[in-house]
Amino acid sequence: MKFATKVIHAGIEPDPSTGAIMTPIYQTSTYVQTAPGEHKGYEYARTQNPTRTALETNLAALENGNHGICFASGLAAQDAVMKLLYPGDQILSTNDLYGGSFRQMRRVYEKFGIQSNFVDLSDESVAREAIKPGIRLLWVETPTNPMLNIIDLELVCDLAKQHGIMVCVDNTFASPYLQNPLDYGADIVLHSATKYIGGHSDVIHGALIVKDKTLADQLHFIQNATGAVPGPMDCFLILRGIKTLHVRVQRACQNAARIAHHLDAHPKVGVVFYPGFASHRNHQVAKKQMRDFGAMVSFDLNSNTQETANKVLSNTRLFSLAESLGGVESLIGHPASMTHASIPREERLKTGLTDSLIRLSVGIEDVEDLIADLDTALTYA
Ligand SMILES: *Cc1c(COP(=O)(O)O)cnc(C)c1O
Repeated sequence: MKFATKVIHAGIEPDPSTGAIMTPIYQTSTYVQTAPGEHKGYEYARTQNPTRTALETNLAALENGNHGICFASGLAAQDAVMKLLYPGDQILSTNDLYGGSFRQMRRVYEKFGIQSNFVDLSDESVAREAIKPGIRLLWVETPTNPMLNIIDLELVCDLAKQHGIMVCVDNTFASPYLQNPLDYGADIVLHSATKYIGGHSDVIHGALIVKDKTLADQLHFIQNATGAVPGPMDCFLILRGIKTLHVRVQRACQNAARIAHHLDAHPKVGVVFYPGFASHRNHQVAKKQMRDFGAMVSFDLNSNTQETANKVLSNTRLFSLAESLGGVESLIGHPASMTHASIPREERLKTGLTDSLIRLSVGIEDVEDLIADLDTALTYA
């Protein structure tokens, strides 16, 4: 099956009891057994729920994996991966990682003896130097957030394989429509389905997708033993969102490309970060591993003070000032004070994340209206 067919059909069967075409919301905590231990594969809803099963099967198909495992949030999904580790294990990750992922590694897991280091994995020589024996988990996010660097998945997965390092790729920014890390040898793909997969800014949800059965069993064990499972209503909403994933992401990418070029030529705008530019440091890698360049665009202002940035941020009407991304509506954000506030300022500045950097999550509205909105706001810069 091709992607556009999978989003609609993979894992989805008409409801066996009624024929309902949409997967029902199985709002139940337990399932009746006909005799002790005799049941239909469902015992207790922390362990299994049919709405969740449909979603897990669908997500596995979208990422070319064999097993999907869903969680109450993207960070709960990350937490399950962290629980595969032991005290003394080392994590290597990228230096402009999602703030919440950084916070979990540093502020929750360091006290359990799990060390994490952050380097610029989008630089091939740095990646070759840093991916070495002794590391247990390589944690990759590409495109990175908010600098939109691109990490070469083929390269880092090959290096990790040579040294027996497990690889987890946070594929939230690309979505499964644009990029499939398991194809390059990643062991685990993580999604904050809160973003593009759900796509309607109405649910918090996370997922892991793997190929390997033993790894899936371990993660299912952790999912059940530690309990951060999503409710059936949330699984239903994600399933509903997924059906239009390819169409939404296509349009959002088209809009983002127009906006990136427009900003690049704007007299009030400084550097524009967008992997679709031929001049982007990793443009060729993006072309190789992504179907399109994504719908996130970051930019700095010529007058690069936080004060000027605040004026722009407060004067858009269609772009809403909010955290998050990947919904049908366009959002504007200030990473330094919002999504990346949990990263110390010195660490932020090292990656180019200045106090005046503005991040856009481009939605699927009419692009002329979006451009006019940004132009108006930029008159305040
Ligand atoms: C939002 C996000 C997360 C965390 O997901 P939640 O669903 O908010 O817990 C992880 N990684 C990336 C790249 C994100 O954007």
